Amino acid sequence: MDTRLADFIRDTPAGQEAERILRSCVHCGFCTATCPTYQLLGDELDGPRGRIYLIKQVLEGQPVTEKTRLHLDRCLTCRSCETTCPSGVQYAHLLDIGRQVVEEKLPRPAGDALTRFALREALPRPAVFGPAVKLARILRPLLPTALADKLPPAAAVNNKPWPTAAGRARRMLALAGCVQPELAPNINAATARVLDRLGIELFEERKAACCGALRFHLNDQAAAKDDMRRNIDAWWPHVEAGVEAIVVTASGCGVQVREYGHALAHDAAYAVKAARISALCRDPSEILVAERDRLLGLFPGGSRGKLAFHSPCTLQHGLKIRGAIEEFLWAAGYTLTPVADGHLCCGSAGTYAVLQPELSGRLRHNKLAALNAGAPQAIATANIGCLTHLQAGSLLPVRHWIELIDEVLT
Ligand code: SF4
Ligand code: SF4
Repeated sequence: MDTRLADFIRDTPAGQEAERILRSCVHCGFCTATCPTYQLLGDELDGPRGRIYLIKQVLEGQPVTEKTRLHLDRCLTCRSCETTCPSGVQYAHLLDIGRQVVEEKLPRPAGDALTRFALREALPRPAVFGPAVKLARILRPLLPTALADKLPPAAAVNNKPWPTAAGRARRMLALAGCVQPELAPNINAATARVLDRLGIELFEERKAACCGALRFHLNDQAAAKDDMRRNIDAWWPHVEAGVEAIVVTASGCGVQVREYGHALAHDAAYAVKAARISALCRDPSEILVAERDRLLGLFPGGSRGKLAFHSPCTLQHGLKIRGAIEEFLWAAGYTLTPVADGHLCCGSAGTYAVLQPELSGRLRHNKLAALNAGAPQAIATANIGCLTHLQAGSLLPVRHWIELIDEVLT
């Protein structure tokens, strides 16, 4: 695509990256067919090709309008379009650049700005989010549905202990995260127990917290990079001490940590460290693939019933992990039911369910219909955001897949 970027951005690193990405798009439109928002709304501007065109206009210096922002806000950043694109267009990086420019050039109405400020400031801080969740559970009847939906009742929070063995030769770090320790603390503990069976010690460094994804996707990229630098500082002594990997049990956070090297590539003090952190980042399934034969040997056999697996967009389109978790669940004794349109987003997408509740609700409705079609007894997924979002609309239990593997092994 021919481009002529405006002076304000042309010679910046973001401008050069945007120009390269824009030029790689041949405008074929294959991506629109697999875009969830295009499928729902049928508007070219709510598909990737239309959004790329809108971003091009903004970067070429044309006025930023409410319409531009609306169509960019409606994007889920699910990256289904990247999986489909035959030209390898890095849509998500272009969207990040376009959204940041739009945010700077067009102030949001007060109510929208306040909601985004509250999400940016509360969610990534465990010291704020933890007490806020406890208070919200008490005030649940007064909360907007989109927020109340996200809150699992305290009784549903499963928190079994971590394994006690320490000092193993093989050690890996786990990202503690921001909302997951409060909403589903058993996920990291279950991962630690599974890895313990494989002779690997998993531990958390509590000075690290939010991966930065929340603020990054709320267009506060400066604060998100501060989150990344804080995590790098917290993890670096452990990296120097020889941890094998940084295990991220939420695929949404995994995509972000994998992007640290890219996000901080122009930060002289952090670029090298950030690239090293990204290279060490692993989804738990990647660790288990490397230990596949030993893991399969630990499964006791037997049948555990029907299960529907929802592969998060961040897992299949972001991390490009497809099929591995399903194989482990089959091997553990679950019968996986077929799920139509597995490439489509469930509508969670970070804070999207709060900011775009109508579209998010329609996507969840469609996703749950697809997941329930094979009459499973439970649903499994790989990302805390998808888990809480789907659980809020489902009578079936929705679990992180590693918890199911843990239960089979114990
Ligand atoms: S992003 Fe890819 S699939 Fe979509 S229009 Fe551009 S080249 Fe075609
Ligand atoms: S990231 Fe998802 S919602 Fe956004 S344009 Fe691509 S396919 Fe559509």
